[in-house]
Amino acid sequence: MPADLAIKAQGLTKQYGQTVVVNALDLEIEAGQFYGLLGPNGAGKSTTIHMLTTMTSATQGDAWIAGQKIIDDPVAIRRTVGLVFQDSALDRTMSIDDNLKFAAALYNLSPSEADKRIDELLSVFGLQEKRKQKLVALSGGQRRAVDIARGVLHKPKVLFLDEPTIGLDLPNRRSIWRFVDKLRRDEGMTVFLTTHYLEEAAACDHVDFIQLGHLEKGGAPSELITQLAEYILEIDADKPDDIINQLSPLFGAPIQEDQQLSFKISASDVDFFTLQQTLGDTVSSMQWRKPNLNDVYLWRFCAPDTVGSEK
Ligand code: ADP
Repeated sequence: MPADLAIKAQGLTKQYGQTVVVNALDLEIEAGQFYGLLGPNGAGKSTTIHMLTTMTSATQGDAWIAGQKIIDDPVAIRRTVGLVFQDSALDRTMSIDDNLKFAAALYNLSPSEADKRIDELLSVFGLQEKRKQKLVALSGGQRRAVDIARGVLHKPKVLFLDEPTIGLDLPNRRSIWRFVDKLRRDEGMTVFLTTHYLEEAAACDHVDFIQLGHLEKGGAPSELITQLAEYILEIDADKPDDIINQLSPLFGAPIQEDQQLSFKISASDVDFFTLQQTLGDTVSSMQWRKPNLNDVYLWRFCAPDTVGSEK
C-alpha cells in the first residue's frame, strides 16, 4: 500500500445471512484528505465504517489504515483511528472533564497529557468554562463537540465521522465543521465523513456515493457539479406531463417530484425569457439556478433512467 494512502479497501464485503449490505468495496483515500461517503439510510455507510475500524469483521476483502492491514493488529488500528458515531459515547450524568479523562485513560494518556489535550480541544469550542459541568446541562451542539473532542483525544491519524451533525441546528453544525476543519489543518488528520446533509459534503476533497451496498465513484464536489449541468431549470405545473412532452425533446427527460420538474440545461440551450413567454400560464412557477451537490445526487439516483433500476 503506498505510504500516502490513509485508507485502502479491496473487495470489502459484509453479508448478514443472505443479504450483502456492503458489496466488494474498493477505496483509496490519500492521507490528509477530507473524504465523504454519501448515500441514503441503509445504504451501507455505517457498516463500511464499522469494518474499517475493526468494530465488525468483513465477510470478504481486506482493508488497511495508515499502511497497517486491519486484521493483523485490530488494537493498533483502534489507536490509529478516531470514531464519532451518531449515538454518543458519552455519559450524560458525568462532567465533560470526567468523560474526557475517562476516555483519555483508555487511550493510555498520562493525567498531565490528558489535561493539556482536553484544555486544548475544549478551547477550540469555547467550552473550557464548562469543563466541570455535567453533560445534561449542555446543548445538543455542545455535547456533539465533546463527542468529537473525545474521538480525537489521542490524535488519531484518521477520524471517522458517521453523520456527525444529525439533529443539530445550523449554527451548531457550522461550529462542528469549523472544529473539524481546524483539526485537519492543525493536525493533518484524514477525515472520513458519512452524511446525508449533502451541502455539508461540498467541503470534501472527494466524495463517493453508496447505494444498496454498491460504491459508485464520484469525484471532487465542484467538478461533479460542473459536469452535471450549467443550470437546473425547475418548473411547477398543474399538468406536468404536458410540460414533459413539450420540453423533453429540448432538454431531455426531467426528474419529477409530484408537480415539480427539474431539467438539466446549459445556457446556450435556452433563452429563458422566450421560454417563460412560451410556457405562460401552463406553469405555476419557473426558476433556473446553479446546480449543487444535491442535484448531483438526485441525478445519479433518481434520474428517469435509474428509477427502479437494480444497481
Ligand atoms: P447506513 O449507515 O448507510 O444507513 P448501515 O450500514 O447502517 O446503513 O446498514 C446497511 C444495511 O445493513 C441496512 O439494510 C441494515 O438494516 C443492515 N444491517 C446493519 N447492521 C446489521 C446487523 N447487525 N444485522 C443485520 N443487518 C444489518
